[in-house]
Amino acid sequence: MNHLHLAGLTQEELVSFVEELGEPAYRGRQIFAALQHRRLRAFDDVSDLPKALRAKLREQATASSLTVESRYISEDGTRRYLMKTHDNLPVETVYIPEEHRDTICFSSQSGCPLQCSFCLTAQLGLLRSLTAGEIVEQIIIALNDAYGISVKTPRGTNLVGMGAGEPFLAFDSLMKALRIVSDPKGLHIVPNRVTVSTAGVVPRIRELATIPGRPHLAVSLAAPTDELRNVLMPINKKWPLSELLMACKEFEQSLKPTERFTFEYVMLDGVNDSDEQARQLANLINRYQVRAKVNLIPHNPADPLPYRPSSPERVDKFRAILESKGVHTFIRKPRGRDIYAACGQLAARQETNLIQLQGG
Ligand code: SAH
Repeated sequence: MNHLHLAGLTQEELVSFVEELGEPAYRGRQIFAALQHRRLRAFDDVSDLPKALRAKLREQATASSLTVESRYISEDGTRRYLMKTHDNLPVETVYIPEEHRDTICFSSQSGCPLQCSFCLTAQLGLLRSLTAGEIVEQIIIALNDAYGISVKTPRGTNLVGMGAGEPFLAFDSLMKALRIVSDPKGLHIVPNRVTVSTAGVVPRIRELATIPGRPHLAVSLAAPTDELRNVLMPINKKWPLSELLMACKEFEQSLKPTERFTFEYVMLDGVNDSDEQARQLANLINRYQVRAKVNLIPHNPADPLPYRPSSPERVDKFRAILESKGVHTFIRKPRGRDIYAACGQLAARQETNLIQLQGG
């Protein structure tokens, strides 16, 4: 596709683009507001633009590039969208309604190059990193479906970069997308409402710390020792726990007084959930004295994965040990498991076990 994807341009870039077409600057701002604030996805819907300009835009550019193939709705209200890029690659986005806010979980890559053994997305391998426009568009599509086109986005929308892919391997697109969505003339989702999760790309953790108006950071640990983490998350062979924790310690300098960052820890039955491992994890965090909290995520199972979730009692005990050593710990409730929308389940599945559940 040679067409320029306008949903991936900042307001300034759109102004330059229309000026090159011989149009006045205000047209650029008008198009930005139409695509981002009103969340329109076709030039013909921007009825306040002259017809001739719409035709000119259509020749050179596109307002949207993703198509929604399927939408799955969980019994808990979570929605999963399976979309396709213009080059026919899968992109998945999850919309999670909560009592006081809604969260949109977006993908940064189609597939993922990291080989985390507990994650279904890994089985796709990397298809490619997404562009800024493709990241922004996922959010627009989810908001339009939840609230209707042109309806003002409720203030409470949070974003998490925890869908398919490793956000820090799509760093430039990611940061650009976050700049676009934070524009008050657009979606106006400010960085304080955004959390990005990394498997531990150490140089990017350091870089993120230096960016003004950065999002919050979550780091996936999954194991308290290098020996186990090498097996569960092979990225650990490149950046082992000592380097990762040191980068987290450095990142801490950029935290606001009330801010903490998050360690995520997927709980795998009999693999990383023993009392001893809880103590090792607490000691690791305390050794570096990082101001972090831990989110325990019960494993979301899927047929090809060789793991089972830890029992609720085990998760509670693990948490109690961490807390007894002064580590703030929360247990994440899985959402949308029945439609393969939960953490680590995004692998472009067409079928779901929804029918089976309804059948008994
Ligand atoms: N690549 C990034 C973001 C995507 S994964 C990262 O690794 O952080 C988002 C979170 O889901 C990570 O914390 C990951 O460890 C977790 N996860 C992956 N597979 C899972 C599974 N099957 N069950 C529960 N959590 C899983």
